[in-house]
Amino acid sequence: MSTLEIKDLKVGIETEQGLKEILKGVNLTINTGETHAIMGPNGSGKSTLAATIAGHPRYIVTEGQILLDGKNVLEMSVDERAKAGLFLAMQYPVEIPGVTMTNFLRTAKTAIDGEAPSLRTWTKTVKGAMEELRIDPDFAARNVNEGFSGGEKKRVEILQLELFKPKFAVLDETDSGLDVDALKIVSEGVNRAQEQNEMGTLLITHYTRILRYIKPDFVHVFVDGHVAEQGGPELADRLEEEGYDRYLAKA
Ligand code: ADP
Ligand code: MG
Ligand code: MG
Repeated sequence: MSTLEIKDLKVGIETEQGLKEILKGVNLTINTGETHAIMGPNGSGKSTLAATIAGHPRYIVTEGQILLDGKNVLEMSVDERAKAGLFLAMQYPVEIPGVTMTNFLRTAKTAIDGEAPSLRTWTKTVKGAMEELRIDPDFAARNVNEGFSGGEKKRVEILQLELFKPKFAVLDETDSGLDVDALKIVSEGVNRAQEQNEMGTLLITHYTRILRYIKPDFVHVFVDGHVAEQGGPELADRLEEEGYDRYLAKA
């Protein structure tokens, strides 16, 4: 089992008025095999948390730690984070002109594992995963994300998740802009990755809709840059009924 620990994490961004604090002391521990949903209103800092785990240079950590099995993630480069087993959708460029999906997937897999996958099984594995995600075989020869629709980009993201087999995946608003059919396909992919690889998932979402398909073990309500409440799946049901008003009144 592996553990990702976020300890008293404080993060700011540089603005014209100076450093603006966005994350105000986040505490969160997630083990492989667990699904944690982070739910919160717009502007509460959810994407900031995801981007900080990803190592986006804009976000400045002023206090706290992120540890993967005790190792300091904040000292790792973006590549090192991927090799250590973190999957962060944002680390992958939106479009990579001139690089086909086939080449990208194989190059990234080789970088993450430190060795090239066996060509024969790899081709079959990629084909099978694409089929399950209903990605047209023609996509293999297309340039990464070039001209892909929003839903296609999400499917390709989950394709990477299934092929790279990370220990932990941070999925920020993976549900946004998907119709119900696409949402089901994407959710099934996440569930497969979890079952097959004991993956730990940090599922960041504003809406409860995706939680019908990906069942969280824990729910964290995120308000004003910190975790305001933690609970089990029942907390998501209550948020669906009541929204975030009770937390915002307190914030
Ligand atoms: P969420 O994902 O929960 O909607 P974000 O992490 O995107 O929240 O944003 C949290 C807060 O930080 C918001 O008030 C947002 O305006 C601010 N913020 C995030 N990124 C930037 C940025 N690059 N410049 C200025 N403000 C930002
Ligand atoms: Mg599970
Ligand atoms: Mg966001």
